[in-house]
Amino acid sequence: MDNIISIKDIDLNQKKVFIRCDFNVPQDDFLNITDDRRIRSAIPTIRYCLDNKCSIILASHLGRPKEISSKYSLEPIAKRLSNLINKEVLLAKDVIGEDAKKKASELKSGEILMLENLRFEKGETKNDENLAKELASMAQIYINDAFGVCHRSHASVEAITRFFDDKTKCAGFLLQKEINFASNLIKHPTRPFVAVVGGSKVSGKLQALTNLLPKVDKLIIGGGMAFTFLKAQGFNIGNSLLEEELIEEAQKILQRGKELGVKIYLPVDVVAAPSCSADAVMKFTPAQEIPSNWMGLDIGPASVRLFKEVIADAQTIWWNGPMGVFEIDKFSKGSIKMSHYISESHATTVIGGGDTADVVARAGDADEVTFISTGGGASLELIEGKELPGIKPLRIKVYE
Ligand code: AMP
Repeated sequence: MDNIISIKDIDLNQKKVFIRCDFNVPQDDFLNITDDRRIRSAIPTIRYCLDNKCSIILASHLGRPKEISSKYSLEPIAKRLSNLINKEVLLAKDVIGEDAKKKASELKSGEILMLENLRFEKGETKNDENLAKELASMAQIYINDAFGVCHRSHASVEAITRFFDDKTKCAGFLLQKEINFASNLIKHPTRPFVAVVGGSKVSGKLQALTNLLPKVDKLIIGGGMAFTFLKAQGFNIGNSLLEEELIEEAQKILQRGKELGVKIYLPVDVVAAPSCSADAVMKFTPAQEIPSNWMGLDIGPASVRLFKEVIADAQTIWWNGPMGVFEIDKFSKGSIKMSHYISESHATTVIGGGDTADVVARAGDADEVTFISTGGGASLELIEGKELPGIKPLRIKVYE
């Protein structure tokens, strides 16, 4: 179990538990929750605690509030969770204020209290030890189930762990699952292992690419980042997205791939348009023939077919980053088709990153893939091989 203190290792019976969740869900202008996946993902841990007769304090951040405002209140989250688990969820008016403290101390076995938005407290993002101490004082057990913020040293994620020992802090089920999937990918993927990367920038995924390269059998590069690689091969890419300063780095990756025997695939054709807008004219062009003033905004049909062949024999697929500007319908086909092919494959399929999860949901494939990570940045950092500040304190210490 990857050396993580599991919730199953802890005596939870009738304890007061503090669960750091990631309820940072998207909302529309009327504060309606548009995707409640993160709330649903927290339920197994909450139910397990209920089964152990715990009293439960839930804490999360939501958005990036500059000050306390109803716009960032966790009220809609508490309501949605309450509907999902068919049980009352109390909401505190503050985080460590009078109301939260009172409600927390009066909480009985089987009751659930949600604190207000953690980021209403300035100390949260500063990893403030005093705030962490106040939060810790509310409960006997600390459970981290907030994978999406584990790459951040925040008070409720890192500093708080200093107030609990190895018998009173642990990872919840969601966090364990996230860590397991990422470490299986890195340590023992079933082969052939194909990584599919896309999205806008090479820079955001450079470290992940470098770390993954010796581990994968094939690498498919699509999306905006493919153009820096095409440019590195001497293609004229018109006005397509380019990170000039990374051309050399892209060349190195292609070269290193060759040395390692990793097959690297780039788009052979693109959907090109003079501008990135829904009403622009568009055409399919070979990657060699992008007109000077046009830009590539999606992979073309030949690339889609090629990539389909490439993943056909995969046993493990990791996908991070859309193949094109999927937010605009006419440039979304490449991403949607890749989603279908990846989800139809017999491989273990792991999806990382919010945009990619969005594509998979839009394509109607969310139930067909093996695992969709709830944390974009955090999942990328795990794949990059980094130790995350929220996960490190939960590792089982090995004494010599
Ligand atoms: P990232 O956050 O790096 O994963 O990038 C996701 C974004 O990349 C999405 O908003 C896409 O619209 C964008 N994207 C994908 N392909 C392209 C492209 N060919 N040109 C410009 N942007 C793209």
